[in-house]
Amino acid sequence: MKKLIALLAAVFLLLPGCGTQRTPDTGYTKYSAQFYGTFDTVVQIVGYCKTEEEFSRYAGQIKSRMEELHRLYDIYYEYSGENNLKTVNDMAGKAPVTVREEILDLIEFCEEWYGKTDGKVNIALGPVLSVWHKYMARYSADPTDAKLPDMNILREKLTLCNIEDVIVDREAGTVYLAKEGMSLDVGAVAKGYAAELACREAYQSGFTSFIVSAGGNIVAGDAPLDGVRSGWGIGIQDPFTAQEPGGGNSIDVAYVRNTCVVTSGDYQRFYMVGDRRVHHIIDPDTLMPADYYRGVTVITPDSGIADLASTTLYTLPFERSRAMAEAMGWEVMWIFADGTVECTDGMLPLLRDRGGATGLL
Ligand code: ADP
Ligand code: MG
Repeated sequence: MKKLIALLAAVFLLLPGCGTQRTPDTGYTKYSAQFYGTFDTVVQIVGYCKTEEEFSRYAGQIKSRMEELHRLYDIYYEYSGENNLKTVNDMAGKAPVTVREEILDLIEFCEEWYGKTDGKVNIALGPVLSVWHKYMARYSADPTDAKLPDMNILREKLTLCNIEDVIVDREAGTVYLAKEGMSLDVGAVAKGYAAELACREAYQSGFTSFIVSAGGNIVAGDAPLDGVRSGWGIGIQDPFTAQEPGGGNSIDVAYVRNTCVVTSGDYQRFYMVGDRRVHHIIDPDTLMPADYYRGVTVITPDSGIADLASTTLYTLPFERSRAMAEAMGWEVMWIFADGTVECTDGMLPLLRDRGGATGLL
């Protein structure tokens, strides 16, 4: 779906690497694991369990669910014996495609939120985004003669991006893209949505004290069972130092539990046209990369919503972005190009440097 992201948008603090860390007082041990290959990113899992066996079982459950959802939501490859989003795209204008419930759910989720969020995240924007993906792939590998796509071509592609033409038939269990040339691109939301499903299911199985990062989309469960901490510290990456080895500095640290922390930024997937940073979040109204912020971090309990929210808020000018965050009850940090930082009132108490991390006390 997307290229391998080398750096995480947010990093765990106190992450000791893969392995174990004994916490003798509670009877729980901290374990960690990571795997690659889903949603083009690394997934890191940290959790407290009584035994390593138990942890491995939960980590395995999350891994296989993420792998399954990756296959279903993949727009580039098909997997034998199963219709996925690539099948749906390939059948645009031809016929409805029978798909699994997880695909119907994701599409309806995106349609519902499209209506609630000014239509800024549009999963039917595939034709426009695929032009951008080609430019990104080519010029991030070799910036020689890097340029922007032709606006006339982008405008022409936009005629095939109407979300009303994405037809979900629940009873029949099908999705149909009504016009030939249409295509879905779920890059703004699928990773977070999949992480939500995988983590919620693991929680129901009994994995309660954990933190999972899918390429910087963080899902935090109950507090660490170390008898000490009441939350997990999540470093919010500083976009201005993100290119430095090791991912640079944290601009602050959010202390959270039972919620999700997701960042959209311009510093991981981009190419340069002269001095201009051309990144991967496209404003559907201008068809160009949105340029209001370097990064937007959202904290809200559902990871699918958090992923969609961070991309949406990134494409809106600050007044509208803030108004939407407040109306939705999302906690947000906006980092502007001049280094200025703005936060929602409820974000501040979660932050170590800006609010003393009093929120979890
Ligand atoms: P990341 O997953 O890299 O952290 P985002 O969640 O913000 O970043 O999603 C960016 C991806 O979403 C892009 O790579 C592209 O595939 C897709 N995308 C970009 N702009 C839009 C948009 N306006 N509507 C829907 N999808 C978008
Ligand atoms: Mg997103």
